Amino acid sequence: MTDAYLSPHLPFNRERLGADFVPAKQGGKPPEHAGHWLVVQDQGLLVESAGETFRLPEGTLPAQLEGRVTEPMWLGTWRGTPCWVTSLPKGEAAPPGLSRETLVPMAGTKLPDDLLSLGGMSMQYIWWESTSGHCPRCGAATTRIEGEWGKVCPGCKYEHYPHLHPAVIILIRDNDRVLLARKSIWAPGRYALIAGFVDNGESLEGCVHREVEEEVGVHVKNIQYVGSQNWPFPSQLMVGFVVDYAGGEIRVDHEELEDARWFPRTELPMRPSRHSIAGGIIERYARL
Ligand SMILES: [Zn+2]
Repeated sequence: MTDAYLSPHLPFNRERLGADFVPAKQGGKPPEHAGHWLVVQDQGLLVESAGETFRLPEGTLPAQLEGRVTEPMWLGTWRGTPCWVTSLPKGEAAPPGLSRETLVPMAGTKLPDDLLSLGGMSMQYIWWESTSGHCPRCGAATTRIEGEWGKVCPGCKYEHYPHLHPAVIILIRDNDRVLLARKSIWAPGRYALIAGFVDNGESLEGCVHREVEEEVGVHVKNIQYVGSQNWPFPSQLMVGFVVDYAGGEIRVDHEELEDARWFPRTELPMRPSRHSIAGGIIERYARL
């Protein structure tokens, strides 16, 4: 890897698609509902098998989905073809020729990075549509702002746009060892990074210091930004940092974590999926 930051290498980031993808609001609306179909079902995508990998259904909406899916939304253009996003209710059977593959890295997704990135954006817009139908101030039904994903309230004129929630994720290094932590809900033996949401009034660096001190009780310094990942479960923006240990003994916050400990860089435990920024940071920065 030659980029300074991890971001272009991570699925769920739009730049992972490169110039192949042009978001919808930058162009005119395509004439009809035909193109690539991103049919989301819960946290999965309906796809066709293509040898060792998968591809999106293409053309008009598969006939057996007519009347069973939500109104298609134009996501953008991928490889010169419009992409349409729709959703099938959880539990309904996929039509013949299509199978539901999970988009969730920790559930062992087998989808390639381009379909994860398109599918992640699709999930986020479906989430946005399902949560933005009414004004959060006065409760009136909202309408879409022309050419945007945003919504406006016809009553009080309040405008709002897709909500992203920034969170920091942090690797702590100290010479030949790194500090990793685990939650009890994770697979046995799997360790990852300290992470937490940014609070009102807080800078990213302030959040790094607070989360590390709250969760593991140590002090850190030399905060270095290493990349970010848009995480569509449902709408986080994970901002990744590598920091140096500056003192203090580990004191685990058992409300948040099951365990946290130092690992020699040469003996790392089972790690997060390579599809996540946690996996990317550990891969690039923990073993050096
Ligand atoms: Zn309103």
